[in-house]
Amino acid sequence: AKLRVGLLFGGRSGEHEVSIISARAIAKALAGESNAQKYETLPFYIDKDGLWHSPAVAQQVLDAGVPRNEGGETGDRAKLWQFPAEAGTVEVWFPILHGPNGEDGTIQGLLTLMQVPFVGTGVMGSAVGMDKLAMKTAFSRADLPQVKYMAVTRSQVWSNPCVFPKLCDEIEQNLGYPCFVKPANLGSSVGISKVRSRSELEAALDSAASYDRRLIVEAGVVAREVECAVLGNDNAKASVVGEITYESDFYDYETKYTDGKASLFIPAELPESVATQVQEMAIRAFEAVDGAGLSRVDFFYVEATGEIFINEINTLPGFTALSMYPQLWAKTGVSFTELVDRLIELAIERHTDKS
Ligand code: ATP
Ligand code: MG
Ligand code: MG
Ligand code: MG
Repeated sequence: AKLRVGLLFGGRSGEHEVSIISARAIAKALAGESNAQKYETLPFYIDKDGLWHSPAVAQQVLDAGVPRNEGGETGDRAKLWQFPAEAGTVEVWFPILHGPNGEDGTIQGLLTLMQVPFVGTGVMGSAVGMDKLAMKTAFSRADLPQVKYMAVTRSQVWSNPCVFPKLCDEIEQNLGYPCFVKPANLGSSVGISKVRSRSELEAALDSAASYDRRLIVEAGVVAREVECAVLGNDNAKASVVGEITYESDFYDYETKYTDGKASLFIPAELPESVATQVQEMAIRAFEAVDGAGLSRVDFFYVEATGEIFINEINTLPGFTALSMYPQLWAKTGVSFTELVDRLIELAIERHTDKS
């Protein structure tokens, strides 16, 4: 009999649209070549209100490639706990949801309660990977080099008018300009600003505080941006290293999602020792957050000094046909179709190890 795969996509995050495109590509891979004999796909769509939709509706969304509604608050909270009947028949889940409510451990908690294997990192690793402050703590325990940073809370920014100027002074003294202000728990560069002056810093802190209670400010580096894909559970493997280039000020939301604004180079043109270090650091980062299945680990490579800083780990990276994660594996010798198959095997392996 075929294994029933629940392909879970959409979700209440700014990366909803990307999730639909990722899910389309994965659905196609599950229906292709040898996978068609092994797997039966049941798609499930979580709309922008957080409501789950049946495979029939989900298939329409996949075919159309666009969201069903604009999102808001659902009037009836009980509906958030109503899952389509078909969900009970799923034998392995493939969640491909990005950002908050998708990549941060929340959906992983729900799938854990369902007692069915699922693709990707578990609750703790997802939450640690998503929260940039928790992530940096885990990385520093693993001796991974990082840029200088400071943790900031929303209350320091908003609640006390005496604290705020001192906070800005401290940031200027410790980190200088340019620096990057980020909400701790987001993705796709949402809420992130690059700042070069006191007034920009003040505005950026105020803006980031509107997204999250926890903020981070980092010293800016002039560096090449390189990324490495990790695949596996224990003894995970690293892919070749890729590079992203762009003309804009930094790799912001618009650059990420406008066709032609960013270019990927795979493999990146790097000294072999740099590529090897990046791969070794990617695996260490994956292990530091207890990653499982897949992750994309991002780095800053400062060519002038040879320094490599880890930027972040993304435990559920973009998975469209054009995304860095599957492209890195394709260039390493694992096709998109094989990758999807392997991730499902890894989900089952991890589940069996735990139970
Ligand atoms: P993703 O969509 O990959 O999850 P994200 O929202 O988690 O991204 P970051 O990767 O932290 O955000 O930052 C987004 C971009 O901002 C980086 O790719 C880089 O271009 C720029 N950037 C962030 N921090 C720094 C820094 N300390 N120095 C230089 N550039 C930075
Ligand atoms: Mg990220
Ligand atoms: Mg991300
Ligand atoms: Mg990033």
